Amino acid sequence: MAPASSFPSSEDVRWDRFHEPGGRALIPADRPLLGWRWWAVSVPGDYGRDGARLVSPFVHDGNQHRWTEERDELHVWQPGTNTSRSDWCQEAGTRDAHVEHTAPQPWCTCGIRSMRYLEGLLAYYRSRRKRREVTLDAVARLASWGQVCGPCEDRDHADTVRAEFAEITGPVYLRDLRWANDIAAEYGTEVLPWDGPE
Ligand SMILES: [Zn+2]
Repeated sequence: MAPASSFPSSEDVRWDRFHEPGGRALIPADRPLLGWRWWAVSVPGDYGRDGARLVSPFVHDGNQHRWTEERDELHVWQPGTNTSRSDWCQEAGTRDAHVEHTAPQPWCTCGIRSMRYLEGLLAYYRSRRKRREVTLDAVARLASWGQVCGPCEDRDHADTVRAEFAEITGPVYLRDLRWANDIAAEYGTEVLPWDGPE
């Protein structure tokens, strides 16, 4: 994989509106917002799965206490379009204040997260990895659309959006190529080797 600095940055000005407090916009499916997302890899056998899968980076490895059987399916990235779910969403800044809703809202914590710049994503990862809260095994460009909201102030990097719908676009850059065939077959994407962040 080429150095992060050689990747195209997300100069789409529609990103700007999400940096405002409470930022929210409807993004059309035929002109999605392009950002970056990262994942952990769940290896074959985890929760009975027959192959490696991309999973949420925040509930793996050193943070397994958040990964329960009943939440497992929410953490696994699906082939094709992924849809935000609010099953475990909270009103931002509260505990257990669940309110029924569908698409992510400016006041809540759900939505499919991606970040504007790969450089920012890697910097955010580096700032969190010392506490072993996150795992970074793969990155890919992510197309987001539907109702899209800005970051949840008390937990996200400022360049984050939370989307109603999202889909991988382009190759998956993977650190451990033992899982390349599984990932390519499951998601129908090209898989390229990646050394990971310094
Ligand atoms: Zn929500």
